[in-house]
Amino acid sequence: MDLSYTPEEEAFRKRVRDWVEANKPTREERGSHGGHLAWQARLHEAGFLGASWPVEHGGAGLSEMEQAILTEEMARGDAPQPVGTMGITWVGPAILKYGSDAQKKRFVSRILSGEDLWATGYSEPNAGSDMFNTQTRAVPDGDDYVINGQKVWTTQAHVANWFFLLVRTSSDGHKVAGLTVLLIPMDTPGVEVRPIQQITGDSEFNEVFLRDVRVPRDSILGNEGQGYEIVSSALINERAGIASGIRFDRSLEQLIDTARARGVSKDPVWRQEIADLAIKARIMRASGLRVLSDQLHGRFTPHTSAAMKCISTLLTQRFSETGVAIEGAKGVLLEGEGREGVDWAYRYLSDRMYTIAGGTSEIQRNIVAERILGLPRR
Ligand SMILES: Cc1cc2nc3c(=O)[nH]c(=O)nc-3n(C[C@H](O)[C@H](O)[C@H](O)COP(=O)(O)OP(=O)(O)OC[C@H]3O[C@@H](n4cnc5c(N)ncnc54)[C@H](O)[C@@H]3O)c2cc1C
Repeated sequence: MDLSYTPEEEAFRKRVRDWVEANKPTREERGSHGGHLAWQARLHEAGFLGASWPVEHGGAGLSEMEQAILTEEMARGDAPQPVGTMGITWVGPAILKYGSDAQKKRFVSRILSGEDLWATGYSEPNAGSDMFNTQTRAVPDGDDYVINGQKVWTTQAHVANWFFLLVRTSSDGHKVAGLTVLLIPMDTPGVEVRPIQQITGDSEFNEVFLRDVRVPRDSILGNEGQGYEIVSSALINERAGIASGIRFDRSLEQLIDTARARGVSKDPVWRQEIADLAIKARIMRASGLRVLSDQLHGRFTPHTSAAMKCISTLLTQRFSETGVAIEGAKGVLLEGEGREGVDWAYRYLSDRMYTIAGGTSEIQRNIVAERILGLPRR
């Protein structure tokens, strides 16, 4: 592939770089939900969200190359992901693909502006990897559905005002046939959200209980029984989003800074470890460009996102493990406990989530084996 940029793309890069420097969130903004909403509003106003979405729904209408440049420059400027990333990465694309005109009009542009924040409810206590086991039921009653059940690990349910909810509308036939997606307001009577505290001390995900929740039948996305297809398509976008959201070039710079600050940058053991990570970071960058090239040439296999997510997960965890190890005893302290610089301990704890979120690494390996390598199913 041709890795050089056209003069227009270089000009776009400069425009984004200058904009990020001038507009990225302040330290105070990064610490508050309101600050994150304000950051998303600025991104939207600048036309940097919904890169590939149709312009009539508020999208930026950027080319894939511009989108890639935008991602690189956000990473370079250490700018955070917008708070509505879930809506932008997979709920919006699912509504654009499967929604009615009324749903597109109602929801899509408000996802970009941050006026609506979405949570996605697939996982249940007995249905994580095994989506077919979904037990939350939506039973038709006149013009409504009445929903009962429980979801778990629901990211942002405590701040979201809309819920992208996987339910069972039928138990007839194959388990896949009875799954359906509903779009419901989070403040519907009967929806109860209970935060779960994570190992980092944050509470980003929740249990969600649904008791006699009554919503109109037109809350459905697509058709009854299309839930498995819709969620599978959304998961491909989620995995690609997780993989591309991990920023190895920046992590490498931070690791080198940490090694210098601890006086070990000339130690042959640490140099070898950092060199190995630098090589892997470069491989990930080349793999990202290969995916981009495949997209530009129409050769893209959606299931590549499973491989990218799996490899990115392992690598980001190795970065934070190395950061903690270089720091020595101080490496186990969290920010505010007497340490300075990059909060490697926080990252070490937080990075564990990548093994599981968006489908576990075992499930990604199964997808790679079956869908990319064509190996027989068990
Ligand atoms: C940070 C984070 C955010 C999340 N956010 C959301 C969210 O917003 N909405 C939502 O719905 N869910 C969310 N989840 C839940 C996540 O999707 C599930 O945890 C995940 O799908 C695994 O399901 P489970 O926890 O039930 O584990 P299980 O499916 O019970 O798996 C347990 C173990 O068995 C292994 N296993 C299971 N099946 C197979 C198989 N066929 N082959 C090989 N190994 C297998 C798994 O890899 C795992 O190690 C989130 C999770 C995390 C960590």
